[in-house]
Amino acid sequence: MLNVERLKNFFLELASIASPSRCEGAVAAYLEEKFSSLGARCHFDNSSSKTGSEVGNLIVDLWPEKGPPLLFLAAHMDTVQPADNPKVIFENGVFRSDGRTVLGADDKSALAIFLELAHHLVEEKLFWPVQFVCTTCEEIGLLGAKHLDYSLLRAPFGYALDSEDPHDLINRAPEAIRFSIRVLGRAAHAGLNPEKGINAIRVAAEALVKIDLGRLDSETTANVGLIKGGQATNIVPEEVLLEGEIRSHSHEKLEACWEKITKSFEKVAHQWQKPGDTRPRVSCTRHEDYPLMAVPEGHPVVQNAFKAGEALGHLLRLTKTGGGSDANIFNARGFPCVILGTGMRKVHSTEEYLPLEDFVRACELTFELLRQAAG
Ligand SMILES: [Zn+2]
Repeated sequence: MLNVERLKNFFLELASIASPSRCEGAVAAYLEEKFSSLGARCHFDNSSSKTGSEVGNLIVDLWPEKGPPLLFLAAHMDTVQPADNPKVIFENGVFRSDGRTVLGADDKSALAIFLELAHHLVEEKLFWPVQFVCTTCEEIGLLGAKHLDYSLLRAPFGYALDSEDPHDLINRAPEAIRFSIRVLGRAAHAGLNPEKGINAIRVAAEALVKIDLGRLDSETTANVGLIKGGQATNIVPEEVLLEGEIRSHSHEKLEACWEKITKSFEKVAHQWQKPGDTRPRVSCTRHEDYPLMAVPEGHPVVQNAFKAGEALGHLLRLTKTGGGSDANIFNARGFPCVILGTGMRKVHSTEEYLPLEDFVRACELTFELLRQAAG
């Protein structure tokens, strides 16, 4: 039997250690101490020089002498803000913060499950080899996962415990890009010679209303979320910068959307130009935020999870998410990985909470994943 009191205590202790992104050192030290006391091997990779975190990603091998791991279990050690000096309250079967900070169940509920599983396996002398992957800087662009030393990862597939509902089995997540569009007009005095100016705000506005934003179809969303431009009310604005993002479960749709956006801006700017003038000008740049995640339903990582759910009478539903996570990166690097829920709710807010019942269910399911994989 899993030890619910011990699971609770691991969570209370973990959630009491502040770990906003790049400040994961104390939580990592806590995990290292707990895992090492069981005889597990802890490795920190060299990612901190790239991520700017206090520590590298922590990769833990339990029963390293028993051949390649059956699977890996992944979670991130960082939380969003506000995170200073967290106080955790457990009342009526639910964990909450005191309202000043996030609870940090995203993703410390997963880390507590890892510690409980490791203790349970040791106690029961279940020699199932497993790797725990504890990343840094997930919340600020999946930086830990992007810079992880993948030579340390030896398991054929894994599960990231980083979602809410413990009945969800997430096998699809979108690809995302971020973009910026710079519109360059021409500055002029707004009162003395406005006809010499080209109002970059006006050009940008005209292009912006011609593009589709929001939910474009069942797979694709687009947003322009930032706009900066102009210097003063008496100057025709020379420059505007717009920043946005596109997400899609289809790479083709994402590319088509990006093309429409850039074409729209270029067309408006071109129509604005007078003979012999090169302004207004538009420059569009983009960078990949995270790659597409799409694990086939028939993949052993999915089937193993279904088997585990069935064995517990805990039916899992295959679903997709609208956001990116470390799992996008693991998949792109050749380590098939799906996402499971830990019971955490209202994450990324000071109202975040974690019902014990769902938390325990998630822990039981994770143990069963290992039992199924061990045959
Ligand atoms: Zn998370």
